[in-house]
Amino acid sequence: MKKILIIEDEASIAELEKDYLEINGFKVDIEHSGFMGLDKSKNNDYDLIILDLMLPEINGFEICKKLRENSDIPILMVTARKEDIDKIRGLGLGADDYITKPFSPNELVARVKAHLARYDRLVGITSKSNDNIIIRGLNINISSRRVYVNGNEVDLTTKEFELLVFLAQNPDKVFSKDYLFEKVWGEYSLGDIATVTVHIGKIRDKIEADSSNPQYIETIWGAGYRFKV
Ligand code: CA
Repeated sequence: MKKILIIEDEASIAELEKDYLEINGFKVDIEHSGFMGLDKSKNNDYDLIILDLMLPEINGFEICKKLRENSDIPILMVTARKEDIDKIRGLGLGADDYITKPFSPNELVARVKAHLARYDRLVGITSKSNDNIIIRGLNINISSRRVYVNGNEVDLTTKEFELLVFLAQNPDKVFSKDYLFEKVWGEYSLGDIATVTVHIGKIRDKIEADSSNPQYIETIWGAGYRFKV
């Protein structure tokens, strides 16, 4: 059973969230104080944290920052002010999602489920013992260096394969072209970051159903590429 911690100072909201999550099969603890919540999250094995932003003594921003120092579990931020969302994004604190009050409890449950599923996928994909990376219709076998799309093998060159594997093993993170070039080609190689662009294009032609609307390797304008999960 997945365990969720709610850090929320308004008892009625916390109870409502708890009721709906319990109906949906989760085990739920509530903590009304930010400091207590932080303590509790360190001493327990939670799968997800629902964190209210406006708390007395220590606010949700600070708590999120502290939680991220030693944990990567999903954090769902709850805020009463829409303008806080930009702030959450801008600070890059590592919150996974945010929801504004008032929200429907069903929406909260749906988000919780989505983030737990996503987290399980990420852990599965990145576990080192995994010789196979399987995501949607794409199957990459590392030791045999074979790649299948919907069961059909596709031929990748050595560098295309290495680039794809590196991105797939580090999903949901953005890497710049410089970084990828150094990682896959080595810093003393001849060539430049345009090489990365060309190779991404070739990989897309081979694994994507529609290269102009990629489902695996996304272009993040001005930043680089990200493997989509
Ligand atoms: Ca509050």
